[in-house]
Amino acid sequence: MNINKHFSTIALGLTSVCAIANAQESKRPNIIYVFPDQMRNHAMQVWNEEGFREHVNFKADPVRTPVLSRFARESVVLTSAHSNCPLSSPHRGMMLTGMFPDGSGVSLNCHSGRPVSSLRIDAVTISDVLSQNGYDCAYIGKLHVDYPTKNNPQRPGTYVDDNNPVWDAYTPPEKRHGFRYWYSYGTFDVHKEPHYWDTDGNRHEIKEWSPKHEADKAIEYLTKERDPEKPFYLVVSMNPPHSPYQSINDVMEEDYNLYKDIPLNELLIRPNVRAELARKQKSAPYYFASVTGVDREFGRILDAVKKLGLEENTIVVFTSDHGETMASQVIDPKNSPYTESMNVPFMIRYPAKLRPHVNDLLLGTPDIMPTLLSLTGLKEKIPTSVQGNDLTSFLKEKSCKRKAPKGVLYIQNIDGEKDAEGKVQSYFPVARGIKTHRYTMAITIDQQKQVKEVLLFDDKKDPYQLQSLDVEKYPKLFKKLTKQMSGLLQKADDPWYREKILSDLIQYK
Ligand code: CA
Repeated sequence: MNINKHFSTIALGLTSVCAIANAQESKRPNIIYVFPDQMRNHAMQVWNEEGFREHVNFKADPVRTPVLSRFARESVVLTSAHSNCPLSSPHRGMMLTGMFPDGSGVSLNCHSGRPVSSLRIDAVTISDVLSQNGYDCAYIGKLHVDYPTKNNPQRPGTYVDDNNPVWDAYTPPEKRHGFRYWYSYGTFDVHKEPHYWDTDGNRHEIKEWSPKHEADKAIEYLTKERDPEKPFYLVVSMNPPHSPYQSINDVMEEDYNLYKDIPLNELLIRPNVRAELARKQKSAPYYFASVTGVDREFGRILDAVKKLGLEENTIVVFTSDHGETMASQVIDPKNSPYTESMNVPFMIRYPAKLRPHVNDLLLGTPDIMPTLLSLTGLKEKIPTSVQGNDLTSFLKEKSCKRKAPKGVLYIQNIDGEKDAEGKVQSYFPVARGIKTHRYTMAITIDQQKQVKEVLLFDDKKDPYQLQSLDVEKYPKLFKKLTKQMSGLLQKADDPWYREKILSDLIQYK
């Protein structure tokens, strides 16, 4: 700390000190972080528009997202943001802590049969740091980072959902990590009958499409509920376009009407759509209707920000926890290294500091927390536990690309050992890989920790990943990618690095 500044501050007297502290705090930017669940990067019409389509080598889905198109023109738009472990809970753990799943504690999707996976109470989250530094923090929507326990505040000793106790959870105040305002649930997939627990633990049953309701709550927070003396960090975690996406009960009719008469082969235009996934293909009109609805509700939040005069000094992020294959490649919508699963939208608008442009920065989930903290001016407060990188300098149009990340780590875990009750006590690190600007590589192992499968795609020549390359024919490339991956595994303190898994193939230090 600057000694002169320290002395002059003392000389000003107590009232003035407080006034200065408040003025400095009020200068810090607000953050609004909106992330619908399971929205792939390709599901934005902006990628078919001039100024944007030149930056990607895929055709955008035929989806209507006019708000995101406008927002893109005001933002830094990343082509290559990836969810490292493209699954709900692990992503959320990484986003909140800046640590990979092994560090955050959230290694698998949170579920009452998996006590091994739950956000560590002692992990320092972005909301912990921001609240300790003068921010008012608010969480609205799906959380899905806690091990569901029998802690129903209305009926203690029971799960919050008798019919489906495995997934949903209530988050008591001691597990809220600095979030003061609370309107959230664990995970629950009835889009038109959502429920939430508020700050005081009261349950609210709602008969309305959840993104619409959550946008209303976000606007209510911005206009009435927040502490006007403080900068704020508002997270809005929408569940759609996550499944179910099968009927008019899942979406808004006005959105469905845009897609209902379009033949499926005109909706699913990617050449890697699988004919045998015909049943899944029928979800396409509902999936795109969900995306259009999310676009509109995001627009309502942006309108409120503008009306309140908060635009200039508010960082707004739009992203998703992972993508959706939607009948491309495999039946699983996520949790795979395919581009539809890993590549997510990432747009960041900060009029005071960031010039809008399209940027090919490789951003991974653990980078989000340190980057946002740095953008608010709290670079020095980034916890030492953070494993991601502060990428703020690369969000500038003419940044030094040479120093930018060259790859992001891909992680897939599955259930490990179970106890006598069948509860999962450990996780098995079944696949690891790397995504670079040009290649996608992933190695899956069997229970003996030997190679089971290697996927290797040249995403430049084969953007739809139609043909995995034979690694034996590309030994130099494979060696280069595994070497790069070993560096990332080391930085992540990953079990593959700690146990030196496949040390005959991977050059560990
Ligand atoms: Ca998810």
